[in-house]
Amino acid sequence: MANKYYVTIGLEIHAELKTQTKMFCSCKNNPDEDKPNVNICPVCMAHPGALPVPNKQAIENVIKVGLAINGNIADFSEFDRKNYFYPDIPKGYQISQYKYPIVSGGHLADFDVTRIHLEEDTANNKHDRGDFSLIDFNRAGVPLMELVTEPHTFENADIAAKTATNFAKELQLVLWYLGVSEANMEKGEMRLEPNVSVTTDPKKLGTKVEIKNINSFRSAERAIKYEAERMIELMESGKGADIVQETRGWDENKQSTFSQRKKEGSADYRYFPDPDLPKMKLYEAFNLE
Ligand code: ADP
Ligand code: MG
Ligand code: ZN
Repeated sequence: MANKYYVTIGLEIHAELKTQTKMFCSCKNNPDEDKPNVNICPVCMAHPGALPVPNKQAIENVIKVGLAINGNIADFSEFDRKNYFYPDIPKGYQISQYKYPIVSGGHLADFDVTRIHLEEDTANNKHDRGDFSLIDFNRAGVPLMELVTEPHTFENADIAAKTATNFAKELQLVLWYLGVSEANMEKGEMRLEPNVSVTTDPKKLGTKVEIKNINSFRSAERAIKYEAERMIELMESGKGADIVQETRGWDENKQSTFSQRKKEGSADYRYFPDPDLPKMKLYEAFNLE
């Protein structure tokens, strides 16, 4: 009889928060602004000496999501610098959270939640105008929450794809209900990155692949199923060693995943607490108990 293959999924979901202003400055947070580079200032453009001030509404939004999924709200929380170079992050680092996320634990729709933290969105690169690239910084510094789930192992690719996609749909409903995010996937306000692995032993996790550029629930379901089946085929034909930890993109036209890059380990980012931002005592600040 053929081997039985279990499929494990862990989700990383980003959602842009619906706030008046950006995460660390008083620029308007307007995802519908068509004119490039109008909602910008020295803080979100990273001019020397400009200092960030945390957005209380964004922190409150993440606390609301944490309470809605029965997560633990941290009393102590802080922001860290995630260092990397890319044209769409003008500071040379992204302000994120590492050791002390606002929310730890929780549960929603078949998945245990690891954490929810708050960070800032990147600018938008436009590569479709000719022999050059343009950057629109309207999105730079928009509050972004990231929810990470624990890995969950399923009986087969079909159930894995359906259940993981259902989690994202349920989360979208929670975000809508709380009024904290428009969470429109087509507009990139909610971005889903599933991690997929396959194993013959449900007590041991296989090598995982992270899938990017998914912009609808339908693509999410197809991408997960495709990737799990690709892995199963490799293992079936004795090429399991060809499965490497990497980031793969979803090609909507070809309906398949393709290798993008080997994943960086978290040590490469040189996380450290951002000295420009205050430590936070959330229970006191938000009257929690
Ligand atoms: P990384 O350091 O590569 O980002 P993490 O441990 O932070 O990895 O996990 C990122 C996401 O990948 C989480 O959602 C987690 O549940 C999921 N994950 C971890 N290991 C696996 C695996 N073997 N198969 C599927 N998903 C996994
Ligand atoms: Mg990660
Ligand atoms: Zn600004």
